[in-house]
Amino acid sequence: MILEATMPSALEDEFNPRLSAEARFDSAAARLGLDDGMRKVLRTPSREIIVHIPVVLDDGRLEVFTGYRVQHSIARGPAKGGIRYAPDVTLDEVRALASWMTWKCAVVNIPFGGGKGGVICDPSLLSEFELERITRRYTAEIFEFIGPEIDVPAPDMNTNEQTMAWIMDTYSMHARQTQAAVVTGKPIALGGSRGRAEATGRGCMIVTDQALRKLGLERRETRVVIQGFGNVGGMAARLMSRAGYRIVCIVEWDAAVYNAKGLDIAALMKHRRDTGSIQGFEGGEEIDRNDALFLETDVLIPAAKENVITSHNADRLRCKILCEGANGPCTQFADPILADKGIFVIPDILANAGGVTVSYFEWVQDRQGYFWSEQMVNDRLEEIMVNSFQDVVAYSEKHGVNNRLAAYMLSLDRVAQAIRLRGIYA
Ligand code: NAD
Repeated sequence: MILEATMPSALEDEFNPRLSAEARFDSAAARLGLDDGMRKVLRTPSREIIVHIPVVLDDGRLEVFTGYRVQHSIARGPAKGGIRYAPDVTLDEVRALASWMTWKCAVVNIPFGGGKGGVICDPSLLSEFELERITRRYTAEIFEFIGPEIDVPAPDMNTNEQTMAWIMDTYSMHARQTQAAVVTGKPIALGGSRGRAEATGRGCMIVTDQALRKLGLERRETRVVIQGFGNVGGMAARLMSRAGYRIVCIVEWDAAVYNAKGLDIAALMKHRRDTGSIQGFEGGEEIDRNDALFLETDVLIPAAKENVITSHNADRLRCKILCEGANGPCTQFADPILADKGIFVIPDILANAGGVTVSYFEWVQDRQGYFWSEQMVNDRLEEIMVNSFQDVVAYSEKHGVNNRLAAYMLSLDRVAQAIRLRGIYA
């Protein structure tokens, strides 16, 4: 057993993203033998911004919203990471997510640090105009802390390419010039990148391909269960089924659809578009969604949300490869159980890094003013994902640790090296 973890005293501890981020950081830092000073630097966010933003609502009432932007590290380049809108956003959550971005960018070796932002609001209760006003005022408040060379936000939970277009416009109005590279995940018409929408799902497929090779499996014989049929899971399902994988089960929040011969993913997508759900799809049978994750399968891709695989259910998994499409789908207390079961885990900071990699390509294209073909984007994505997978596996074999710990050690080492080379400015 490689990752040491004690059982959680309470379920909230197991589900707390900050504790989870710190536990993995601590294991990797200990294994690397990082000194106390470097641990303090790497553990502490470099900058935390809190803004309270007054916004006039559609009915004329004045409301004040709280927003955060945390820049965990800028040692390897500008901070990079999404902005989420949700009623339960906390500073602790944003801190944890910002540190994950630092490790994710380092593991795929792109020249970014890590950041994350959030605004406490409930988008389901806000009109499009209200969301636009919140976004613009939030952008104006953090104006001097973001920028193409400083901190480059992107979409996250409940934000999208329209939100990015508003941020880009507001920033550009203040800068008195159009600055497309201030955000990524923009509409293509405003400097977004071809291939960005599929990038995370495509990245999941590329690293799963690599894991198959490693375990001597063939795409055609490989059964796949995917939880979440959204941007990551839906794209992964579509691309993998086209590539010959057998997608035997899709699990959504309201249903799970199973077909041992493989689901027709294009038809399931059409069914969901037409009816709003995967329920009632004739090309498969509905099974209990609570059991679906524990089906016998070759590959399991949890691509919906965090904290799905825990100390309470990890021993029920029956997959050979676990490819973490979502951020944090396995808690730190599940890690040792997965290791004991011999499951080949492709950790989130590697598995879902295709999205931030193509965000990096978008930033490069915007700064060059020269836009690449979709083929060029996909080829370069493949090169980075394959190299990163091989780096992690080689690191894991060299140091005798599991893939997650290897990915963390590799990225901590890269960030620590940048800090040592730059030195501490006094
Ligand atoms: P999304 O909203 O497009 O899709 C999520 C899907 O999961 C939806 O279809 C939703 O109905 C489903 N879902 C929600 N709760 C569920 C449950 N309990 N059981 C089964 N299905 C459920 O979101 P997304 O962009 O695909 O992101 C999914 C995960 O991947 C998140 O953890 C996100 O942080 C992570 N991620 C996304 C990207 C990206 O580029 N979109 C990049 C890296 C990581």
